[in-house]
Amino acid sequence: MKKPMPAVFVGHGNPMNALLDNTYTGGWAAIGKDVPLPQAVLSISAHWYIPGTSVTAMHAPRTIHDFGGFPPELYRIQYPAPGDPALADRVRGLLAPMTVHPDEEWGLDHGTWTVLRHMFPGAGIPVVQLSIDERQPAEFHYDVGKRLAPLRDEGVLIVGSGNLVHNLHAYAWGRRAMEPFEWAVRFEDKARELLLAGNDGPLISYETLGQPAALSIPTPDHYLPLLYVIALRRKGEPTCFPVEGVDGGSVSMLAVRIG
Ligand code: ZN
Repeated sequence: MKKPMPAVFVGHGNPMNALLDNTYTGGWAAIGKDVPLPQAVLSISAHWYIPGTSVTAMHAPRTIHDFGGFPPELYRIQYPAPGDPALADRVRGLLAPMTVHPDEEWGLDHGTWTVLRHMFPGAGIPVVQLSIDERQPAEFHYDVGKRLAPLRDEGVLIVGSGNLVHNLHAYAWGRRAMEPFEWAVRFEDKARELLLAGNDGPLISYETLGQPAALSIPTPDHYLPLLYVIALRRKGEPTCFPVEGVDGGSVSMLAVRIG
């Protein structure tokens, strides 16, 4: 039997990464070259965090510039990947009887396109986004991830896009390099240990992991995409970290690859 498609969590960080050539974006490009060519990408982005579960169902999703105060060239970027209404239907089928709204309004937000622009620069692979229901607890998101597992056997690359550590209050927006905060390093170390051990329980109930977790995850939006990805791991599959680093002291750029 063919090996299932890997699944990846990426730390997207600063939207400017869309334009930059650095170790993070080089790592995303390397992931794109390393995985088997996907039939489609299903992206779960921190930036589609809404009251409900929706899936983009249009033929041509727009590129959404959902940020403020960045240089004009960032707003000029388009990522014209096609949509995949059939995949949207398949996702709705896998998650039934849960209500999943077929969406015609959203598109690709920067959690998706700033990364995919490097991973698959040709924008030829169809992309569908699945929203994160902000009303639901962490276990719900892990369970939704589990139910998406058959897609890995259908050539779909599932990408969770957020940041394991995401504290913008402490983030150094300037150009000056900054050492990571001690709490950020402690939480990332703990998470890596749990990820390598395949010990998902404490990662789901992350609120029990103390002060470093509380400072690393002040709001759940950037953390939850990770749970969708780790829920897809099958017995005996390897986990690795193809991109590493902490940006601006308080944003972990760690990428996690399953399979
Ligand atoms: Zn973000």
